[in-house]
Amino acid sequence: MRIVIKVGSHVLTEDGSIAKERMLGLISLIAELKSNTYEVILVSSGAVAAGFTQLPLERSSVANRQALAAIGQPFLLKMYQEKFAQFDLLCSQVLLSADVFESDKHVTHAKVAIDTLLENNVVPIINENDTVSIEELVFGDNDRLSAHVAHSFDASLLVILSDIDALYDKDPNRYEDAKRRVIVTSISEEELNAEYSPNNAFATGGIVTKLQSADFLMKHGREMFLASGFDLSDVKHFLIDKKHIGGTLFTA
Ligand code: ADP
Repeated sequence: MRIVIKVGSHVLTEDGSIAKERMLGLISLIAELKSNTYEVILVSSGAVAAGFTQLPLERSSVANRQALAAIGQPFLLKMYQEKFAQFDLLCSQVLLSADVFESDKHVTHAKVAIDTLLENNVVPIINENDTVSIEELVFGDNDRLSAHVAHSFDASLLVILSDIDALYDKDPNRYEDAKRRVIVTSISEEELNAEYSPNNAFATGGIVTKLQSADFLMKHGREMFLASGFDLSDVKHFLIDKKHIGGTLFTA
């Protein structure tokens, strides 16, 4: 079974630099999944943070974030390479932008490369090419990119590893009585178009881009699983033991 795992920058970074222990935990999970017959494509953020550890440019401007991503991407991949090597695995860098998915020709080229990497047991690590495309750098943190990756490269499931362990009926960081939604089969227009605002009980932070990704995938016959990237036990239970204990499954 082919899956895409997306890890956000909140999970991958700590105090402005790469959270190495968490990265190792993620890689160990991928190694375990691969020995359980999964084909895994990783979508990883973290280039800007990795760049910032080398050159502390002010991060509020998009131009600086583009520069930081360009500086950080090779450092990030070097860390991945070294850690994957501990598991005798090779990884690879694939940089894409949103408009790749608007062109059948580009998607076909990219899919040939991805298929060939996977056939050779190599882990593709995808990130947005922030030099030419700033969409995810500005808003989304690769949530939407990873949904396109899952659809175009024919993965049945996108796993989003987040700083939140599931979808709730309202923001659990602000409401103590928020309840976890275990399975979601459809998402309302209101939820999909919710504006980021401090007064909106449902939609703050990056949850809306995750819902948009889930909606896109469900409409294309695919599934999404949202779980914690800090504690990988829910995702392990779900993928390896086939037990849905924590996390939210989006399935139409
Ligand atoms: P990541 O960086 O891990 O991809 P984000 O921080 O962008 O994740 O998005 C997750 C955040 O969205 C949570 O920390 C939470 O505060 C917020 N959030 C808002 N509404 C909800 C909700 N209904 N369910 C879960 N999280 C929510």
